[in-house]
Formats: sequence, structure tokens, C-alpha cells
Amino acid sequence: MQNSYAIGIDVGGTNTDIGLVRDDSKIVSRSSIPTGNYSLLEPYVADIMEQISAMVAQGDPEKGVKSIGLNELTGIGIGAPNGNFYTGCVEWAPNLTIKGLLNFEEEFHKYVSIPVVLSNDANAAAYGEYVYGGAKWMDHFIMITLGTGVGSGIVVDGRLVHGSTGTAGELGHNILIPDGRRCSCGRKGCLEAYTSARGIVQTYTELRKEKGVPAEAAHMAGWIAPAIEDKDITCKMIGDAANAGDPLAVETYRKVGEWLGLACANACTFSAPQAIFLMGGPTKVGDPLLIPLKESFEANLLNIYKGKCEIRMSQLAANEVAILGAAALIRLKTTK
Ligand SMILES: [Zn+2]
Repeated sequence: MQNSYAIGIDVGGTNTDIGLVRDDSKIVSRSSIPTGNYSLLEPYVADIMEQISAMVAQGDPEKGVKSIGLNELTGIGIGAPNGNFYTGCVEWAPNLTIKGLLNFEEEFHKYVSIPVVLSNDANAAAYGEYVYGGAKWMDHFIMITLGTGVGSGIVVDGRLVHGSTGTAGELGHNILIPDGRRCSCGRKGCLEAYTSARGIVQTYTELRKEKGVPAEAAHMAGWIAPAIEDKDITCKMIGDAANAGDPLAVETYRKVGEWLGLACANACTFSAPQAIFLMGGPTKVGDPLLIPLKESFEANLLNIYKGKCEIRMSQLAANEVAILGAAALIRLKTTK
């Protein structure tokens, strides 16, 4: 049987990654343009289309496909901040230099007549896991992405949940601690304020202020030395330090695990998932996060869900998930 091909586009604040994706989840070719160089949608999409045209013209040498017609593609899938599946628009994304209500679907349809599907990046990651990754055999799961923010995509009964507004699945903005830390959304105490990369750094620096850095940290390999200023501390440094046994870093991740485990247990009550997948930079720390997270999850889980939902890591490669997820979104308009 002949393979089919789709385009996956990940719109990031800094770069836009574009990939030609074969239906067996192989990214045949990929390229990138700097999102920050654009202030208008038209030239931005024109330049993306130029990249796509070059990719399809090269075909898929591995499969002996010399070239692929633009309208032979199964579609163009786009994962973008504030991307709305219903309207095909990106709606006032704060971290994009192209401002306003941006009708991506309409703009791409000036060039192609194939389906153009848009959703936010966390929904794309969830659907990528469903079509290409570890959730292939599941009809009920949640994907939580930890990074600069905390995003989530929810699949229930085999369908990605969009809700009445097209923006369902914002577990990162569930309020975890009333009147807690200020969140990027302007409210207080959201999960994101505690378990995003920024939240993790804040927890570490608060602990450091409260408890002081242990004296031996200055000469222990991998620990965060007292000489390093708060402003220079990154989430990755805390993760590495936690794995090296730095007690402040270990305690930071224990707290993050407890918060996230509680949030996962709460999430089970509304969609009874078979699994909750995690992905993103802060999850790479491994056991210092996962052990307290699983303990907190089990301890807080309602009885009827016990033993029915697993916490798992995304099965997709970190540098591929955004493109694969975006390409997977096309199935939302071409199947069911
Ligand atoms: Zn929030």
C-alpha cells in the first residue's frame, strides 16, 4: 500500500518548525523559520508554504517517492499557542510577535485545498501520543506538558475534548492553592505556578532562602553551589542537582511531585483516564519527580479509580512530538 503524507507545523514564540510526516510516524524532512521575524500573518504563511513546497518537491527518497503534490497531502496540522480547533484561528497569543486574531486556516487555504487543522500545542501533543505514541491503544487518557507553562490535552471516548469554546483542557490553570502564587494567567495559585519550569525554580529559591544552602554544597559534584545567584538558577540545574543528591533540589522535586500527583488524582474524577502521560523538560529529571508524584497520586486517588490509571512518560521523542502531534491533528477532520 502506498504511504500517505501530512505536514505538521509547530508554532513557537521563537521558531516555527515544519515537518513532512509519513503515515508510519517518520518525519521525512523538516525545517524551521524564525517566528519572531514576522509581525503579519500573510508573509509568515507565505514563507512556511515556500518551505513546504521545497519539502514535497524532494518527495520521500527512502520510499522511492520522487515528489508529492501539495494537494496529495492528507492535510496541514498546526499546533499553536491559543490555537482554536473550531475557528482555525490563533487568538491573541501573548508570546507571538504576530498579534491579534489570526485566521491560519483561511490563510493556508489560499495555497492548498486540503484540510488545515489547528489546535493548541498541548492538544497536539496529546493527539500525537494517540496517533503515533504510547496511547495508540487507549481511548481515554490525559497528556500533561510541563515547560514554560503547564498544558494539557484530554482524550475521552476516543475524542480530543475541545469543549464549548474550543479551549478545553487547561489543567495547568486549575487552582491548586487558593490565594497562592501569582500565575501567568493573572490569577493566583494555579498548578502552572507550582509545576512549570518557572514554578520549580521559584520553589527552589524559596527553600534556599528559608533553609539556607548546605555548607557542603560548595564542593559536592552536581549540587547547586551557594555562590550561584538565584537569577542564574534554571530548572535543568535543579533537576541535575536532585539526581546528584542535593537536598534542597530533592525537596523541591518532592513538593512538585506532591502537587502534580494531587492534580492528576483530581483529573481522574472527571474523565476516568486509563493513563496520564507526562512530557516536557522538567519531567526528564526522572525518579526525584516520579516517585513522590506516584505516591501522592495513589494517596489522593478516589477508591473507584485505584489500580485503573497509570502515570506514564510520553513515548514520543522530545524533538519530534510537536511536529508529529500537529500532523496527527489532521485525523480529527479526516476520520470519525
Ligand atoms: Zn493560571
